[in-house]
Amino acid sequence: MNESNREDKLREETKNWTEKLFHPGLEILQREGEEKGLKKAICRLYEQQTSQWPQLKLAVENAAKTEIRNIRVAGRRVKFQYNPARLANVTASTTREEIAKRPCPLCPHNLHQPQKALPFSEHWFVVCNPLPILREHMVLIHRQHRPQTARGILKDMLCFTELTGLATFYNGPQSGASIPDHLHIQATHPGQVPLVRQLPPASESCSEILFQQELPQRIFLYGKTYSHAEKLFKETIAAVNRQGGKEESDEPEFNLAVFKRGVGEVPVVVVHPRHRHRPSCFYLKGERRCIVSPGAADMSGLVILPRREDFVRLDGRKMRSIYEEICLPENRFTTLSEKLEERLNR
Ligand SMILES: [Zn+2]
Repeated sequence: MNESNREDKLREETKNWTEKLFHPGLEILQREGEEKGLKKAICRLYEQQTSQWPQLKLAVENAAKTEIRNIRVAGRRVKFQYNPARLANVTASTTREEIAKRPCPLCPHNLHQPQKALPFSEHWFVVCNPLPILREHMVLIHRQHRPQTARGILKDMLCFTELTGLATFYNGPQSGASIPDHLHIQATHPGQVPLVRQLPPASESCSEILFQQELPQRIFLYGKTYSHAEKLFKETIAAVNRQGGKEESDEPEFNLAVFKRGVGEVPVVVVHPRHRHRPSCFYLKGERRCIVSPGAADMSGLVILPRREDFVRLDGRKMRSIYEEICLPENRFTTLSEKLEERLNR
């Protein structure tokens, strides 16, 4: 693409987003700046959208009424959420052919007519998720239509979580993202996500990386600064790739979650390395089928089940075997943690 085409494309993208801007929130950002005003501007957007957009209002009410079952897997709490509205997302086909056939749901001209957006940093627009699973469920959409990749996004996730208190979640293109052709990050109120109460405290010796072998396996990164957290993340991804026999710069299968810590502390980053996109029961027929397609929320202990029969039938033992299939084999996770610790302590 030559320079003038590139400029035209950028102008066109910006114009499309301009039509979606939420002006009362924008005024807050302009008056108070992003650092002070972002949380307030997002709250204002959420209030406006949930009162003025009937379809979202209903979806939020339905999400608040969803049935929940609490179970235990490997001694930790996991919540099942029965959420029929998520069926299309959970079963979305993410093959290149299917993606090419449909209009991109995250490009501004395809957003819902009443849907409004707020800018965040230089790359993102924030909108309300039209099919929420939790309170204050937002989506950060990259301003350009470009494929889902974690490269370069962690700093913005850390910053958004620190400023708003909302947890941010990233699903890899082969690990739960239902729209892998347009880069996006999910953000929600963290209160209902079991993982938020299972975060190990960084020890007094200021551990920068902690491993949890129990299913679903987790790697916790405690950066002292944003760039320190980014370095730890990069090392982790490179180690997962080396271990899987891939190029260090490739994107392995994984999910990512970022949770706020105390004031002035860099949010904690949680990496869930993955072995598979979907468990084998997803593909079975008849009674043995279970429609579950784990993404970052499911790996964080909130398992979304769009069919009642699965919600009623699934138990801790079966959920453990689902995690077992989609997480790394135990010996691979052990080797990964040893190699990574060795490398970071070198
Ligand atoms: Zn798009």
